[in-house]
Amino acid sequence: MDTALADSIALLAPARRILAFTGAGISTESGIPDFRGPHGVWTRIDPSEFTFDKYVSDASTRRRSWQMRSESGILDAGPNAGHRALVGLWKAGLLAGCVTQNIDGLHQAAGLPDEAVVELHGNAHTSACLDCGADWPTTEILARVESGEDDPHCPHCGGIVKVTVISFGQMMPGEAMERAYTLAATCDAVLAIGSTLSVYPAAYIPLEAAHRGVPYVIVNQGATDHDVVADACVEGPAGPILTTLVEALTAGKK
Ligand SMILES: [Zn+2]
Repeated sequence: MDTALADSIALLAPARRILAFTGAGISTESGIPDFRGPHGVWTRIDPSEFTFDKYVSDASTRRRSWQMRSESGILDAGPNAGHRALVGLWKAGLLAGCVTQNIDGLHQAAGLPDEAVVELHGNAHTSACLDCGADWPTTEILARVESGEDDPHCPHCGGIVKVTVISFGQMMPGEAMERAYTLAATCDAVLAIGSTLSVYPAAYIPLEAAHRGVPYVIVNQGATDHDVVADACVEGPAGPILTTLVEALTAGKK
């Protein structure tokens, strides 16, 4: 076994309230591209074209956004071994919660209950009216797009419809941030997975826990901004690493 993985198991073994913090890297094995990686979407598209203000003020930005959403395949993806390993940790009573930067809903699809998941950047499976707050499954809105309505509006009030995902230039959801900070303040270990830990304020969550002195383990493909702070860094794909890690931590606890 990888030395860093063995170290991680030893560090996390005494923990009973592990905080998982996940980023795009846990979902790449489900076929969802990592937005910020070397081949990420943002290497091809300028993020300044897709701010919240542009979405609200410019119909062509909304049309492009729905078109990209329709082509992304994110809503068709299914959970992988990494998501399932975290469910195993939850069922063994060792996971305090999972704070995620992902918008794909795959933690819940794998079997984590809503109460165990904190979505910092929203969820692409739901769309809502920016004026009256009515909401729909995004698949319903995309069906309207595909049948020719390229900028669908709210059927109740005529307002602008948007996926419930936090855009550039949009405020972080207050309730989610509060739940995340509570978990960071009360966990007894923190496990960051598939994130370069370079996007703030989200990356403050694991850092906050680490600064309290609880063990900090990182699983990621490649270096992260928190490697110098972490107690162990395991490099590689999340699925097989988490499977081994969780099997070791839950042995005899199921
Ligand atoms: Zn409305």
